[in-house]
Amino acid sequence: MKLLEGKCALVTGASKGIGRGIALRFAEEGANVAFTYLSSVEKGEALVKELESKGVKAVGYRSDASDFAAAEELINSVVEEFGALDVLVNNAGITRDNLIMRMTEEMWDEVINVNLKSIFNTVKASTRTFMKQKSGSIINITSVVGLKGNAGQANYAASKAGIIGFTKSIALELGSRNVRSNAIAPGFIETEMTEELDENTVQGWRDAIPLKRGGQPEDIAAAAVFLASDLSSYITGQTIQVDGGMLT
Ligand code: NAP
Repeated sequence: MKLLEGKCALVTGASKGIGRGIALRFAEEGANVAFTYLSSVEKGEALVKELESKGVKAVGYRSDASDFAAAEELINSVVEEFGALDVLVNNAGITRDNLIMRMTEEMWDEVINVNLKSIFNTVKASTRTFMKQKSGSIINITSVVGLKGNAGQANYAASKAGIIGFTKSIALELGSRNVRSNAIAPGFIETEMTEELDENTVQGWRDAIPLKRGGQPEDIAAAAVFLASDLSSYITGQTIQVDGGMLT
C-alpha cells in the first residue's frame, strides 16, 4: 500500500533540488502533485512529464512564492484542478549571503519575502480549505541555520527561525481541525543551492557531519513523506532535523 495514495500535494519550488526530490517521492507514494517554480521553466515542464510517468496527475505552476495575490490564485487553481489539497510543502527558498556590514536592504527583503512571507502567503490562502476538509498536513522547510545561526547568513537564519515560530503557531491554531503543521530542518544537502560553495569548505562540512556525507534531496523527501502521511497523524508543531547529526 502506497503511503500517499489518492492525496493531493502542493510543493513550492520544485523545479530542482529538495523540492524536486519531494515531488518525485510523493508521486512514487501515489500522490497527485501540483508544484511551483519561478525561473526554471524547462525544468518545470520536464518534471510534469516525469511525475506523470509514475502514474499520477501532475501540474506545474509558474508562481512567485513571495507574491500574496499569486498564492491565492495558485491555491484556488490547485483546489479547482485537483478537487482537494491534502499536503502543502513550503519549500521555495533562496540565499543572498553577506556579512551584516555588507548586507543590503534588498538582500534582507528578498530573502525574508521568498523564504518567510511566502509561507504566510500559501498557508493563509489554504487555511479555509484545510479547515473545511478537517484534515491537512503543512510541511515547512526550514534549516539548521534557523536553529543555530550562521555568519554571513543573518537574513537567511532569521527567515528560517521565523518559519519555526510560524509552524508552531499554526499547529496551535489549526490542531482542533485535524490540520497538522510541522517543519523539516535540513543540514547540508547537495543541491544547486550548495553547489556554489568551494570544494574545501564542502569537504570540511562533510568531515564534520557524524554520518560523514552530505545529504541528498531523497533524505529530505523521506521525512516529508512521513510528515505528509498518516504515519505521523499524532505529530504537530515539531521541527525534524535531517542533518546527518550535524547539529547535535
Ligand atoms: P535550489 O536547488 O536552489 O532550489 C530552489 C527552488 O526554489 C527552485 O525550484 C526555485 O525555482 C524555487 N524558487 C526560488 N525562488 C522562488 C520564488 N520566488 N518563487 C517560487 N519558487 C522559487 O535549493 P534547495 O537546496 O533545493 O533548497 C530548497 C529549500 O531547502 C530552501 O527553502 C532552502 O532554504 C532549504 N534548505 C536547503 C539546504 C541545502 O543544504 N541545500 C539546507 C537547509 C535548508 P526556480 O529555479 O524556477 O527559480
